[in-house]
Formats: sequence, C-alpha cells, structure tokens
Amino acid sequence: MNDKLLMTSVFIGGVMIINIVGAIVLRPVRRCWSLMDAPMPVGYQQIIERNLAVWKYLPEKQRRLLAGRVNVFLSEKTFEACGGATVDEEVKVTVAAAACVLLLGRRNIWCYPSLRNILIYPESYVAPEPQVIGDHLVVEDDDDPLDGSCESGNIILGRRQVLDECRNVSGSNVVFHEFAHQLDVETGLGNGRFAALSSRKYMSCYQTFCRNVRRGDPDVLDEYGAEDPAEFFAVSTEAFFSIPAELRTQHPDLYQILKRYYHIDPVTWFLTV
Ligand SMILES: [Zn+2]
Repeated sequence: MNDKLLMTSVFIGGVMIINIVGAIVLRPVRRCWSLMDAPMPVGYQQIIERNLAVWKYLPEKQRRLLAGRVNVFLSEKTFEACGGATVDEEVKVTVAAAACVLLLGRRNIWCYPSLRNILIYPESYVAPEPQVIGDHLVVEDDDDPLDGSCESGNIILGRRQVLDECRNVSGSNVVFHEFAHQLDVETGLGNGRFAALSSRKYMSCYQTFCRNVRRGDPDVLDEYGAEDPAEFFAVSTEAFFSIPAELRTQHPDLYQILKRYYHIDPVTWFLTV
C-alpha cells in the first residue's frame, strides 16, 4: 500500500469514528431537543391547569418552555407506587410540572440528570427516625431510603401532599422543596452553600433567619429552614417560586441570590396577572 492510499484510509477511518461517536453522544441531546419542541398532550395541560397554581401566572413563553421540559421529564423518569399509593397521570404530570418550574430559567436542556425514580406514597412521606451508629447515619428500616431526597437517585413524595400543595400558592410546596435538594446535590455539595453561590451573603441570610426563628419573629419562610443551610435553601426555594413578592420584601438579599441561581425573577410573573 503506498503512502497516499494509507493516508486516505486513515482519514476515512477517522471520519467514520468521529461520526459514530458524534451520533452516540448527540443522540440524547437531539432527543431532548425534539421533546422540548413537541406539543404537550392536551390531557397533560388540563392536569397542569388544574393542579399547578403557579401555571396561571406564567407568561406564554414560560408555559411553552415548561411544557417541553415536562415532556423530557416524563420520558426520562420512572414513578413507583409505594404503600398502596395510586400513581396515575394526575400525580405524575403534577410532579413533573412543579419540578420543571425550577428549571425554567436554565439554558441547558438537562433535566435532573442524576434522578431516576420518584417514589410515591399515599399521603406525605415521613422518614423513619435515623440512628447514629459510630460515624454512620443509618435508617431503622432498610427498605426505606433516608428521606425525601436524592443522593440515591430517588425522590420520595406523598401523593396527597403533592396535589394539595401544588394547587395552592401558600409558600409551601413539597415538590419545589425536594427538587431544590436535588439541584443542590447536582450543582453543588448538597449543603445549600454552593447552590446558592456559596458566599458569605447566603450564610448571613441564613443566620438572620435563624435569629428570627429563635426570637419567634414572624417570617414568610417555614421555620424548618433553620435546620441547616441545605434546608434553608429548599425552604427558600418553596417561597421563591410560590410567594416571591413576600420573600423579596422580607428577605431582599436572599431573593437576589436565588434570582441569580435560578436565572429567573418570579415576582414578574405575578405582576402581569
Ligand atoms: Zn428538606
């Protein structure tokens, strides 16, 4: 084989390998984009209109984005019924829609890539009391994961709590809460600090809030946020997407931190209605 023929063969082989690798790598990306552009089934939209209170405040562009993300979410995640719960389209679409509200400002198409399953219990899920043995935190019942979060690739939710809280804009929303933890784990260390762009400012907001709780001062945030910075992030996320004006009034610095993190300004949604 002469040199020219050898070079041509190497070139063609190289191009073929690049094409094959490209196709494998790009296939999920293309699939995501086509799902993002696909219309949502009419039945799904009716469920969202019925169950996701924030939907009626969303601008048209955000509704289209949310519909696309719901398509991606439902194609990638599996739902599992636990404890006799009913897992139907009603709860699946509601969870998907509320979870994807947190992604509305993000430019990338990834949809909680390390999450695989959502486990649905009938009411609200209460984690078994953990025990500390040596340096390890363990759970009494080996069949149950530690809590509603996500390090194992699962999120645990209660059907009734999901439907009740998603239908209201009260400041409490278990789906916003658990998926904030999921983002915290995926984009940071799961401790609320990196996710909130770390920073002294975030910790200063947390400490101010803890002081309010200790004094018994009224606060728009649930006092459970005082547990630790990760819970503070999850509780703040609930308020950020459901009662943003109240959050911005009482915790303006925290609101700005969350606005930068989520790349979105939910106060504007509520102003336009
Ligand atoms: Zn939590």
